[in-house]
Amino acid sequence: MKRDVRLATFLLWAVVISVSAATAWQVWSARKRTLAEIDTNNLNLAKALNTYAEGIFSQSAMLLLGVSERLETEGAGPQNLRRVQLLVGRQEQLLNQLDGLCIVDARGDWVMQSTANLLAVAGSAERAAYFVHHRDNPSREVFIGSPVRSPSAGAWVITVSRRMEDRSGKFAGVVVAALGIENFLRPFGAIDIGSSGAISLATTGGQLLVRYPYREQDVGRDFSRSPNFLRHYADTASGTASFRSTLDGMQRLYAFRKSDHYPVVTTVALGRDDALLAWRHQALLTLGVVAALLAAMAAGGRRLVVNIKRRISAEASLLAAREDLLKANRRLELLAAEDQLTGLANRRSFDEALTLECRRAAREGTAVSLLLFDLDYFKRFNDTYGHVAGDQCLKAVSAVLSNGVKRPGDLVARYGGEELAVILPNTDLQGARSVADLLLERIRALNIPHRASPHGRVTSTVGAASLQGARAQEGERQLVEAADLALYKAKESGRDRAMT
Ligand code: GH3
Ligand code: MG
Ligand code: MG
Repeated sequence: MKRDVRLATFLLWAVVISVSAATAWQVWSARKRTLAEIDTNNLNLAKALNTYAEGIFSQSAMLLLGVSERLETEGAGPQNLRRVQLLVGRQEQLLNQLDGLCIVDARGDWVMQSTANLLAVAGSAERAAYFVHHRDNPSREVFIGSPVRSPSAGAWVITVSRRMEDRSGKFAGVVVAALGIENFLRPFGAIDIGSSGAISLATTGGQLLVRYPYREQDVGRDFSRSPNFLRHYADTASGTASFRSTLDGMQRLYAFRKSDHYPVVTTVALGRDDALLAWRHQALLTLGVVAALLAAMAAGGRRLVVNIKRRISAEASLLAAREDLLKANRRLELLAAEDQLTGLANRRSFDEALTLECRRAAREGTAVSLLLFDLDYFKRFNDTYGHVAGDQCLKAVSAVLSNGVKRPGDLVARYGGEELAVILPNTDLQGARSVADLLLERIRALNIPHRASPHGRVTSTVGAASLQGARAQEGERQLVEAADLALYKAKESGRDRAMT
């Protein structure tokens, strides 16, 4: 039973733990799966937007190449410049993203601006990054500079520029195309990236060109030395990462792709909490259902265990009650068979034993004898010494009789009052007499003073009777009467003796 409780408890715990573990694992792997899916989607989106940006830069690069080739071969005279200006004017209508085109000579002076005041109101372009870059760098690759605010448009533009050289290969100036950043913001804004998502285009050098959602202060921001940039962007062509944004401090899932042709990188970012919203709902639902189920099961299991325990204790107390009852019964049996004062067999036991012994004697053809003791002048003893002393005396004489009979079958009983009886199975009258004499001697030897008796001490008188073999059959009454008669005779003839 105790093992049942342990087993039930163990099973209950096993189920609760394994279901919890399985659920936790399932929820956790669903989260991992969701994050992986988001990463894949983001990366695909970053690649597509990168292709779009590359397209814009390629078109600009082609235009720059055309213009610079022309100026290099045909010279940068005023006539040529006017023709270029006309050409660019037409191109501008074809290329949406092109806000305009400017030309700077080797000294840093503006020689042409397709739109008036496109990049500079007047004066030198010497300090501009693209000018410095191309002057000091012989590469003919296009250069993408940090965004500048166009004085004419008032909006931010990204400059894409190319170096011009004269026939001897010396630096001859720069052709600069201006691309309005709204050309990038528009397609970025058309993509659903949730409330905390962001899409951005930056140079591989770590300068932010455009970011959606647009915030003026982000334009041109340099994050080349931020730990996130160094850790995740510096050495890889594309990838995903999760980190806290240095711009707004929000935790996001990033996917980025660097252009193969231009020094730019496109990044798509989703707010992690936004991205995991659906997963979180699902997880909460799952956890709620499982928790409710487990709670119900635990409650049921607990009841089961409590019931088993209750049954165990009920059974235990039942057993204890049975034990008590058995003890009480045994005690009752003893009480029913024993005389309280002397501890001898009582009258009932005596009657039963006498019947049995008479039957046995008849069956086995043996003799059965009975001695009847009656203390002498016992009324006077009580009168003289009190009832308590009388009881003590009775107990002492009883002990003498109990100790005096030797055979296992012998039975000493309190016949009633101060009358004691001894059943002696398998004993003839002669044997009974000698037992009687022996016991009388021992009573005398007790030497209990009895000044109201002529004998001076407590003595007893005995009547003995015996039945032999078949005569013993149902002879108990006869035996008692005979012993009683003998006792009467012995009293008559002076007491303190045995007669048959
Ligand atoms: P005798 O037998 O010698 O003729 O005189 P007796 O005084 O013993 O006379 P009897 O046998 O008729 O009296 C029995 C007395 O034994 C009566 C009572 O005072 C006393 N007696 C009987 N049972 C008890 C007992 O349980 N305790 C005490 N203290 N006395 C008892
Ligand atoms: Mg008597
Ligand atoms: Mg008497």
